[in-house]
Amino acid sequence: MIVLKSPREIGIMRRAGGILADVMDRLREIVKPGISTLEIDEEVEGFIAGRGAQPAFKGYRGFPATVCISINDEVVHGIPSAHRRVKEGDIVGLDLGCVVDGYYADCAFTLPAGEISPDAQRLLQVTQESLERAIAECQADRRLSDVSHAVQAHVEASGFSVVRAFVGHGIGRALHEEPQVPNFGEPGRGPQLTPGMVLAIEPMVTMGSWEVKILDDGWTAVTRDGSLAAHFEHTVAVTEHGPEVLTRR
Ligand code: MG
Repeated sequence: MIVLKSPREIGIMRRAGGILADVMDRLREIVKPGISTLEIDEEVEGFIAGRGAQPAFKGYRGFPATVCISINDEVVHGIPSAHRRVKEGDIVGLDLGCVVDGYYADCAFTLPAGEISPDAQRLLQVTQESLERAIAECQADRRLSDVSHAVQAHVEASGFSVVRAFVGHGIGRALHEEPQVPNFGEPGRGPQLTPGMVLAIEPMVTMGSWEVKILDDGWTAVTRDGSLAAHFEHTVAVTEHGPEVLTRR
């Protein structure tokens, strides 16, 4: 069942999303070659606590940290570590959520560390564009798979691949609610989008094949062929006036 949110509930989620938008600004300052992924995680945990919110991922199904940090061929769910340092030329995926008064917001973005290759730059740009195109589909007269199709069409036309194993999701009083929001599919299918739906849309895009595997830590998903992967995510409310991105100021 898809749970619709009232304007009051969306207001709370907007506060949670605003905190994440501020975290992203902070991360743009600190994610540089030399910092460890654990240092990034500790910084974000402190930031979220300082704003009176709770991290959404820490303890979720046993995940040990506040931020999923996934570098280069890691797609999602990388675990922060004191032994892992960001290197010049890395692309660093950062996925995080927070909870305010029982309501969740979820976002992700992939940052360049120092100078990255033109190919990597293009991967980040196309992934971000595919998210923007998906957000633009979050209108009351569209269907859910129009959102999915917008991602796939843009990514594949650009010569990249869409990961199938992980999908976006509804969000609200739980981090993961119905419906699932795949990043692929034919348009015009699935439930009609309705004001009050809130979706976490999160394209995961690779330079090579879309196939992934999970490392021995039980969490980190990497591309099977070792190609680079990027991940961007926003929490988006469908309103009568069109999409509202709750994780953007
Ligand atoms: Mg998510």
